[in-house]
Amino acid sequence: MIVTLHRDADVERVRRALSALGLWTTPFRGGGGARHLLVRPGSATIDAATLAGVDGVADVAESPSTHPRVDALPPEALVEGVRFAPDAPPVVIAGPCSVESREHVADVAARLSALGVRALRGGAFKPRTSPYEFQGRGAEALRFLRDAADASGMIVVSEALSEADAPLVAEHADLVQIGSRNMHASALLRAVGRLGRPVLLKRGMAATLEEWLHAAEYCLDAGAPSVVFCERGIRGFDVNTRNLLDLASVALLRHVHGLPVVVDPSHAVGRRDLIAPLARAAVAAGALGLLVEVHDRPGEALSDGPQALDTETLREILDAIAAPSVPPKRSALR
Ligand code: PEP
Ligand code: MN
Repeated sequence: MIVTLHRDADVERVRRALSALGLWTTPFRGGGGARHLLVRPGSATIDAATLAGVDGVADVAESPSTHPRVDALPPEALVEGVRFAPDAPPVVIAGPCSVESREHVADVAARLSALGVRALRGGAFKPRTSPYEFQGRGAEALRFLRDAADASGMIVVSEALSEADAPLVAEHADLVQIGSRNMHASALLRAVGRLGRPVLLKRGMAATLEEWLHAAEYCLDAGAPSVVFCERGIRGFDVNTRNLLDLASVALLRHVHGLPVVVDPSHAVGRRDLIAPLARAAVAAGALGLLVEVHDRPGEALSDGPQALDTETLREILDAIAAPSVPPKRSALR
């Protein structure tokens, strides 16, 4: 929001009057020497008419949003009967990092389904840091994943790594994941959006909130029916954890922007001993669900073994987050 001042207004007096209303401002000069105040993020929501009545204020203008489709998203998303919603139990998306074999993924799916998990994840096309690491089983892995999910009554979540593999992923997955490394890949975002499937959009590991919102705008503008945001940790400086889980961004997306957001504590910390407390914290911060990696023999996992949970620990997490949450109040500070 931009507040324009009368020519003879005392800028500091107007700023004090606005801060008394909960509005934090930055002054700037416009064309012809006109003086304006830019209302900073984190300020209270005050209607334009009230602001226009403040002594010294000449005009109030809403700055147009550059992500109107994201702004219009409802606070919940529905994926083949699975609801990511504030008044629904947290949705847990679980499964191995990579689909390893038909038998393996079917076995994991059966164990997860027995625990009440309704969304099965597994990578077929893997974005690995090194080209010499396991790159995923590709097309056949998608079939194994789909069959395992169908046999266990679950929906499928899998990543599209490139424009070339996106149609095949969308054919097999109910929720198409865009990985952290690809959040800025606008051509891929558009290609996935055009396929008309809901998108699970992971945050780039060094992406600002605005960049993340704009990535979602690309998907929606191209035709995606909905986007579920996934915070998976941003680059930190401490080597004790793989990334830095930014729960403030989760609270912001959920309570200020009113958007559906889930948290992936597995890739955030990269070590299984910290996943349970962070899962609880994520739900407390407003996450509508979790994405966690699960493997029955983590030591033999083809990727991300150190962060893979066993099903017993997952059960403890499910019990911990099942407690009814306090309905969050939408923040007045917007
Ligand atoms: C994944 O979920 O398999 C993955 C590679 O995650 P990220 O893009 O967050 O690293
Ligand atoms: Mn992984």
